[in-house]
Amino acid sequence: MTKILVIEDEESVRENILDLLEAENFETLAAANGKIGLDLAVSEAPDLILCDLMMPNIDGYEVLKKLNLQASTATIPFIFLTARNAKADVRQGMDLGADDYLTKPFTRSELLNAIMSRLEKQTDDIKYLSKNNQNSARFLPELQILKSSLLRTLAKRKLREFQVHYQPIVDTTSGSIVAAESLVRWQSSELGLISPAELIPLAESTGLIIPIGEWLIENVCNQTKIWQDAGCKDFYATINISINQLVEQDFVSKLLISLAENNLHPSSLELEITEGVIEHDMNTAINRMQELQSHGLKLSIDDFGTGNSSLIYLKQLPINTLKIDHYFVHNIDKDRQKLAITKGIIEMAHNLDLQVVAEGVETRTEFNIIKALKCDKTQGYLLSHPLPVAEFEELLLTNQCLLA
Ligand code: C2E
Ligand code: MG
Ligand code: MG
Repeated sequence: MTKILVIEDEESVRENILDLLEAENFETLAAANGKIGLDLAVSEAPDLILCDLMMPNIDGYEVLKKLNLQASTATIPFIFLTARNAKADVRQGMDLGADDYLTKPFTRSELLNAIMSRLEKQTDDIKYLSKNNQNSARFLPELQILKSSLLRTLAKRKLREFQVHYQPIVDTTSGSIVAAESLVRWQSSELGLISPAELIPLAESTGLIIPIGEWLIENVCNQTKIWQDAGCKDFYATINISINQLVEQDFVSKLLISLAENNLHPSSLELEITEGVIEHDMNTAINRMQELQSHGLKLSIDDFGTGNSSLIYLKQLPINTLKIDHYFVHNIDKDRQKLAITKGIIEMAHNLDLQVVAEGVETRTEFNIIKALKCDKTQGYLLSHPLPVAEFEELLLTNQCLLA
């Protein structure tokens, strides 16, 4: 039986709603204030919560914020009840992650429609998660909260919480921007800024990297086309690809659709794939990469030098670029071994007709060495941090030399 918690301080309104719900065979729980409501949400795990916005002490916003912070309550569908049709109240409630709202007085059918549509949506989300969650390890409590929050964000299509930042990739000789690496940022309304170091492993282990990755590809295609049309015809963007994405059946076809819809040439994208991804399933990776290359996409090995089987697949994989991991670049001026290895990688890559990008260049001295070693392209804080769209655009469209 579906259990619904009603948090409402006005007794007559509360009783009225409870009568309606009981007549429809819902199991009901009643709370006369926010504190009782929160306790019942934890102890009784209701299937849905109806909560008044205006209550003394703990109001509806506070109730929702507190529910969002606990793994066990963060995903319970939440509909708030407001006495006024004040847009600001509705907006604030929805921004906090409420699923729907009802303006009092509401009719029986308005109430039941809102409840039924939320319950159906929740069932779909659970099916989606269980389908994509078979391999996920047991989560620590903090991770559970992050996971619930990520799921809520995606379930509610609150994709505006995700942003793409762009880090310039610069021609080492001229200093001008030739490309940019797209890097995802999650500004969670519930948890603040979540770094990719936290987001990506979680998104990968839950399968949520697929919808996030699709959103990112679509977004980057759209933006790249805008910059090309604004005069940067040869500009290309790079996108990091996870193993879950690469092995997805329809990964290539969806990618081609995004390119076509944005009227973007496939060579305008370079997909960054780490050694770890290739090692995970070498045969599938090779097949997929060949398929991608046959459609004209560029491919690079990211974080090169940190995996295990570096050299074997260089011969087998259809790649255009090696990105030397920042480990080798960091303090290259003080470490003769790093210098020797980096020199060797660049020479070998050039003999294989590959382009080389040095990642994580932070000082002028590191840059000078990289340049002397004839590394084609450079990326790193010395030139620029990853930037929001508008700031990156300012650099790109004014054709700024980042080495001035
Ligand atoms: P990555 O692909 O190796 O990306 C480069 C990372 O190095 C970025 O971290 C960037 O901010 C950082 N970085 C750039 N210049 C410097 C520098 O001079 N010094 C140092 N110490 N670091 C520098 P970020 O943005 O935190 O991303 C971390 C990782 O998360 C990325 O490593 C990538 O593996 C993953 N990631 C980020 N966005 C996405 C995405 O959209 N999809 C997937 N699948 N993975 C992503
Ligand atoms: Mg990368
Ligand atoms: Mg990298």
